[in-house]
Amino acid sequence: MLIALIALTVLLALAIVALLLRTPPTQVNSALQVSEERYRNVVEAQTDLICRYLPDTTLTFVNEAYCRYFGRTREQLIGTRFIELMPERDRAKSLDHIQSLIAHPRTEPFTHEVLQSEDKIGWQQWIDHVITDSHGRVVEIQAIGRDVTQLKVAEAETVDRREQITHSTRVAILGQLSSALAQDLTQPLTAILCNAQAAQLLLRRAPIDIEEMQSTLGDIVADNARVSGVITRLHVLLKRNTLVLEPVDVAHLTTEVLDLARGQLVERHIAVIVELAPGLPAVLADRVQLQQVLLNLVSNAMDAMSQNSPQDRKLTVSMSLNEARLVVVSVVDNGCGITPQASQRLFEPFVTTKLQGMGLGLAICRSIVAAHGGDLRAHNNAGPGATFTFSLPVEAQAI
Ligand code: ADP
Repeated sequence: MLIALIALTVLLALAIVALLLRTPPTQVNSALQVSEERYRNVVEAQTDLICRYLPDTTLTFVNEAYCRYFGRTREQLIGTRFIELMPERDRAKSLDHIQSLIAHPRTEPFTHEVLQSEDKIGWQQWIDHVITDSHGRVVEIQAIGRDVTQLKVAEAETVDRREQITHSTRVAILGQLSSALAQDLTQPLTAILCNAQAAQLLLRRAPIDIEEMQSTLGDIVADNARVSGVITRLHVLLKRNTLVLEPVDVAHLTTEVLDLARGQLVERHIAVIVELAPGLPAVLADRVQLQQVLLNLVSNAMDAMSQNSPQDRKLTVSMSLNEARLVVVSVVDNGCGITPQASQRLFEPFVTTKLQGMGLGLAICRSIVAAHGGDLRAHNNAGPGATFTFSLPVEAQAI
């Protein structure tokens, strides 16, 4: 049976070869034309954009979809450099990509902006494939692309919304601190008034006590600096800003945050301990966002200790450098600890055990820390309370 099948296959192959040998050249040509036509139809019927271009980006072929996308005819496009269809800012990046493809041929998606018309910017994603001659030199590049403008717009909207939520929660935390902050402002302002009145009295005395006068004026200057420090910090935190990375001294940042929370810490009788590791290197971070993380953790710790007796409320902020050269910051309290109910989904949005809670703080803190290449974790202490620890990579120059 098997032998019969093999014999039949061989016979069939021989018959096909004989038939092909007898086919006149005109028939071969027309078969080729049909096949070419078929391929052209496939390429033209694509909704994807297809083109071929020379290494200097001169277009040698474009399909219908490509023409439609740019609202131009094939004649208008072929012979022009597609780089001119891109905004200036994206051109160098695209030329670099082509050079790197020629040097190391590979298949990988490449996304760039395009000028659909004079005032309309779109986004395209392309997959290029180099075509080489018999010496292996790249002569042309064939590419297939699609419009990804909607995807890019959606991505930008998501980033924008995330920024809005991050900002809103920052404002909400400051709202919680506001009564104590008001006190932070009124105390030094009152002191300034008293000292100014004292200075007026001193001026009326004869002879004027220069030393006392100097000390009174010195107090006024110091109180003024306190007020403007609080206002500047508030202003920075209330302003909506995009991510700005800079070297940040975590110890200094901690002092700033504790200064902002000082009114509340005093009001709630919370003893604060700061444990510094000497010579801690700077981290590369967005100062405002990092302040937000720390402020959120400190604020949560204060809430967690609200049921403790006033003599038994202790907040420790410690900083160190670990073996992986990450700056590690821990916020430790001796409060109620993380409830089993919250512990499973602690960093998920809208998880809260507080009556007025939004449950967004920790989710945002974790995403901020992750965006900085770090990590935020939490655990209950062996004794009472919880510890929240985040780590951040050291600034490159400090390595
Ligand atoms: P919110 O403060 O609005 O509840 P968060 O995301 O900041 O939102 O916190 C979520 C939950 O995590 C809190 O409701 C609380 O149950 C728990 N939690 C946060 N910090 C602590 C802490 N220091 N000790 C105990 N539980 C905490």
